Amino acid sequence: HATRITAKTHQINRKLISHAAIKTTEGLQKAGFEAFIVGGAVRDLLLKKRPKDFDVATNATPEQVNRIFRRSRIIGRRFRLVHVMFGDETIEVSTFRGSHLNDQGDAKVADTGRILRDNVFGSQEEDAVRRDFTANALYYDPATEEVLDFHNGVPDIQAGVLRMIGDPEVRYREDPVRMLRAVRLSAKLGLKLDKKTEQPISELAELLHDVPPSRLFDEMLKMFLSGHAIESANALREHGLHHGLLPLLDVVLEQPMGERFVKLALKNTDERVLADKPVSPGFLFATLLWHEVLLAWKKFEQQGNKPIPALFMAMDEVCDIQAEKMAINKRYSVTMREIWSLQPRFEQRAGKRPYSLLENPRYRAGYDFLLLRCESGELPAELGQWWTDFANADGDKRQTMLLPDA
Ligand code: ATP
Ligand code: MG
Repeated sequence: HATRITAKTHQINRKLISHAAIKTTEGLQKAGFEAFIVGGAVRDLLLKKRPKDFDVATNATPEQVNRIFRRSRIIGRRFRLVHVMFGDETIEVSTFRGSHLNDQGDAKVADTGRILRDNVFGSQEEDAVRRDFTANALYYDPATEEVLDFHNGVPDIQAGVLRMIGDPEVRYREDPVRMLRAVRLSAKLGLKLDKKTEQPISELAELLHDVPPSRLFDEMLKMFLSGHAIESANALREHGLHHGLLPLLDVVLEQPMGERFVKLALKNTDERVLADKPVSPGFLFATLLWHEVLLAWKKFEQQGNKPIPALFMAMDEVCDIQAEKMAINKRYSVTMREIWSLQPRFEQRAGKRPYSLLENPRYRAGYDFLLLRCESGELPAELGQWWTDFANADGDKRQTMLLPDA
């Protein structure tokens, strides 16, 4: 029941397809299996964007896939996939999955409708129906160069529409993360959300509370690193999805200073991503929560604590509140705390202290953070400029720049 779309019609540019993905489908097909490039990669190819990763779907079981490729391994206990490695590229291969409804005891659904386990093999058609958006349920066979379209995804892409397969409300209840994916993918791809796909989101927003924090974190990270963080943040807010995600982000965005700071940070990140420069998630999360830290810092100082202990109390408090809703991966939260804890040291410009700060391994991140604070108007521009000049000056010049001991 799929529409077959030929190369002449879809005009996919083969140069944008990874060789590793083609070798993977060829390997599977030579062994007698069906194999297709699937999901986001096909969607991106149709939108003439270079996909950043390639997934392959097949009727071979994970064990069969694993036997075909020397450099491959089965990953995941519940949701088993195979990673096939070619050079430094990894292709994720999944076996066609069926519906949790015709489960033989291996699927599990919560009272709210949320799917807790979903690991039943199925036909290609069933695999298509359990995907989220019509644009994400397309299968490309590099051998025939045909796209198989089960849910009118190609016409939707051509019309610039992101549409949920099936009844959107049911699908959001099955997996509330799909609401975040709707917002993120429509911002990133410039696709408009179909009306029925968009409509239930605001009402169902609170279902996100039941999603494991680590999954929320992964999704937020993708959103902020998509190169379209500003649009995504605005869309999150429009749909009422920011409440409880970064629980304090809504408060932040309502304070003029906080909003300016977060917007600047997101704009910087977007520019770096679109220019293919690396971005640090720890730095980004440090910016998103900074004005919460500032508020709490002030509170603890007013309670009679000295500035530095008060800052550390504030950091703990903000991180604790945050952790209840969306676990920030430890890898990043360490960086985040380092950046925050360096900030008071930039205000000390006498004696040996500026020299030791320059030697700190986190100096650069701390300094970039300081510049954002200055640019947002939180601190005088002169302070940021002083550090720029100090870092660039030679030894003698530095001596003359130091402020008198307080
Ligand atoms: P991106 O460009 O951000 O990678 P993507 O659509 O490829 O977007 P992935 O997380 O890589 O996102 O997922 C690959 C495919 O798996 C999707 O295209 C979709 O078909 C399916 N998928 C992913 N998440 C879900 C979900 N929550 N519900 C249903 N299908 C999903
Ligand atoms: Mg993908």
